Amino acid sequence: ARQTPGPADSEALATLHRVFGYDAFRGEQEAIIEHVVAGGDAVVLMPTGGGKSLCYQIPSLVRPGTGIVVSPLIALMQDQVDALRALGVNAGFVNSTQDFDERRVVEAQFLAGELDLLYLAPERLRLDSTLDLLARGKVSLFAIDEAHCVSQWGHDFRPDYLALSLLGERWPDVPRIALTATATRATHEEITQRLHMPAARHFVASFDRPNIQYRIVPKADPKKQLLTYLRQEHEGDAGIVYCLSRKSVESTAEFLSRNGVEAVPYHAGLDGATRAAHQSRFLREDGLVVVATIAFGMGIDKPDVRFVAHLDLPKSVEGYYQETGRAGRDGRPSTAWMAYGLNDVVQQRKLIQSGEGDEAFRRRAQSHLDSMLGLCETAQCRRGQLLKYFGQEPAAEGCGNCDTCLAPPETWDGTVAAQKVLSTVVRLQRERGQKFGALQIVDILLGKRTAKVIQFDHDQLSVFGIGTDLDEDEWRGVVRQLLAQGLLAVESEYGTLVLTEASGTVLRREREVPLRKEPKKPVVSRSSGSS
Ligand code: ADP
Ligand code: ZN
Repeated sequence: ARQTPGPADSEALATLHRVFGYDAFRGEQEAIIEHVVAGGDAVVLMPTGGGKSLCYQIPSLVRPGTGIVVSPLIALMQDQVDALRALGVNAGFVNSTQDFDERRVVEAQFLAGELDLLYLAPERLRLDSTLDLLARGKVSLFAIDEAHCVSQWGHDFRPDYLALSLLGERWPDVPRIALTATATRATHEEITQRLHMPAARHFVASFDRPNIQYRIVPKADPKKQLLTYLRQEHEGDAGIVYCLSRKSVESTAEFLSRNGVEAVPYHAGLDGATRAAHQSRFLREDGLVVVATIAFGMGIDKPDVRFVAHLDLPKSVEGYYQETGRAGRDGRPSTAWMAYGLNDVVQQRKLIQSGEGDEAFRRRAQSHLDSMLGLCETAQCRRGQLLKYFGQEPAAEGCGNCDTCLAPPETWDGTVAAQKVLSTVVRLQRERGQKFGALQIVDILLGKRTAKVIQFDHDQLSVFGIGTDLDEDEWRGVVRQLLAQGLLAVESEYGTLVLTEASGTVLRREREVPLRKEPKKPVVSRSSGSS
């Protein structure tokens, strides 16, 4: 839709055809490339698989000099450079995996003006020796990949990224392009500020991934649920299963293998050779499942990942979006499936409470978790929720490709149930000065005389046994949804429940509490791991 093709952009298009062998630009690539080729700064937000690399690779080829690419993914630099060389692009990298001589060769190539692209780790770029080297050669642009690493709030924070703000001062005439797939408005602002790019043009691609079907199911026996799901829908498909701990990574991979699904583990506790071997098998083979902690996946470019499954709740919606975004880069139908339960909330809360960081950091982490819970418990379109989270406008009528659109959950008036839960929490605290977790609250409501109920005389409370109208799963569902709606909070690392400011409005009958019905129980035995 260009009216007057200038010499720069026709060269960009020619490069796309000639070097990369593609017919046309995708989405905003063309506008971004034109802008950078012309010397402008850009902040690019594009979902994973959107095609960010070309946005700096083509300008590097078109502009005179070498494009400097800052990337935290040292392990992938070799692959990226090899892929470019295979296309006939003169690319090199400098990082800590090289010895002195290898580095000298690349540096000499750069100084001789023989490189189109030079990949650098951020910790290298801040060294005076590196800055001096760059000053002696010709730089065509700076590309700052995974730019969200500059954000102190994200889990990918890299202090070295903060030093990148110097680039603009030292090379005021060299365009800079910052790219990320992770971005709420806040991260977006932070990137612009911390990298000192006030004049940058912002390109925000749609975060919608229409070919990914989002589904979130209540967690009962997660491994068996996963196996059923894989057998029913993803026989022989490549996919990623995310777990929170190394231990559950190991046991899940083993469980799948034992049950006929080829699966390998991946986590930071494995030695480098094993990790590399499992990663390269995943990239090469057709139907391998990788069971991994979040250590796996950043920068992995495998187009035919058919599913991403979560057995534990991600810390944030950003994390969830980024991880699920590794499915279906080829545009073909794929699923993002998650099993989630009350224990996830308690566990995450524990991590926040016992983790590093000051009070502000904890509050931020808690609000990330709250948004994630909101997504899990919504009775509305999941995609719509995701898009709204990223500040984008969803389709009014729902997406038709998520569980809540495909099978709209029934809702019911949970006001009385909510009051029962909240008054149990109040009674315990006011009459006994005690705080308990969801298990005990539910046992009290159900009138169960467990050892712990007897021990604390909880069968003497007036609320004992007032909740026999619902079963245990339903009560757990009520508690989860109250947490998600902010009507109840998990207070400590022990998972004790406390009221919130909003709880009073329910107890005083000033508002109703619509709740979604628990979906029918999954068809697996409930022997273990209930949550
Ligand atoms: P990102 O870095 O945004 O996750 P990539 O740059 O790795 O995405 O691109 C994702 C995939 O899409 C790659 O396989 C890439 O070759 C392909 N791709 C990117 N742009 C185009 C295009 N204009 N036409 C065809 N394929 C493209
Ligand atoms: Zn939907």
